[in-house]
Amino acid sequence: MLITNIQRFSLHDGEGIRTVAFLKGCTLKCRWCHNPETINKNRQIIFHKSKCISCMMCRKTCERINKKFNILNNIPDICENCANCLKCAEVCPSGAIEIIGREYSSEDLYDALIRDREFYAESGGGVTFSGGEPLLRTSELIPVMKKLSEEKISIDIETAGNVRWGNFEIVLPYIDKFLFDIKCIDENLHKYGAGSLNKQILENFNKLYNTSRNSLIVRIPVIPGFNADEKNIEDIALFLKDYPQIKYAEFMPFHATASHKYEDMNLKNDFEDYKNMDANSELIKRFRELFKAHNINIK
Ligand code: SF4
Ligand code: SF4
Repeated sequence: MLITNIQRFSLHDGEGIRTVAFLKGCTLKCRWCHNPETINKNRQIIFHKSKCISCMMCRKTCERINKKFNILNNIPDICENCANCLKCAEVCPSGAIEIIGREYSSEDLYDALIRDREFYAESGGGVTFSGGEPLLRTSELIPVMKKLSEEKISIDIETAGNVRWGNFEIVLPYIDKFLFDIKCIDENLHKYGAGSLNKQILENFNKLYNTSRNSLIVRIPVIPGFNADEKNIEDIALFLKDYPQIKYAEFMPFHATASHKYEDMNLKNDFEDYKNMDANSELIKRFRELFKAHNINIK
């Protein structure tokens, strides 16, 4: 399986200190995605312009770069018509061209995760699988989950929920908490923002609630220009009223920290003019009140 990052000492992806593995590949394509490098399931290159020393090694390696080399600033344009063969990254001496996605076997991943077991034990933390959509890689993750479970290590999964129900079912025996994203209820808005309808997501949520409700944490990204208004947040509250025994819901205010990734990957960034949203802003406070008014346990 391809992993973009193993983040240690995370305090925001479940309870306690957690080590988070970010898997590559997702079934959604959210316009605001904070981890756009995890959407594509294949290895790919990312270009850090500021690290380029204009040595031209990549230009000699790749015909496509040769044709598009920008002689004005002496840096390559690697994103035009790139075939993703990764050869340029192999010759780049400065790290300006970086390969995103490292292949891990189940054993490699287990070894990387078990290293932090002391921190899990001390803090009540554990491992969180994130992405991308980790539930797309259940066949490779199950052996890791089995071994972590044998060691009594807590396992959480961050999921957007847009996978077959079977992918949930198969991991149920191992998962401590599901951090389940609900972005909006309106299906057309969901398609506009995330590139796909939300029917399967809401059906999976319902099934998951009926099998392991106490392990469900609902995460609601609050995105300006998408769902950050009372109508959409109230729709979510009304939906969640039918699921009173979820562990809790929490708002995830938009942050702009991924904007450099969009630039490095030459991706269109619909949110380049937006700043970080304050978790203590009046807007978020109003949304919290709205949830409380519907008796939804909000963190
Ligand atoms: S990944 Fe391959 S095709 Fe793409 S820019 Fe690099 S060498 Fe050229
Ligand atoms: S090989 Fe790397 S450092 Fe050299 S020109 Fe290409 S991107 Fe820049």
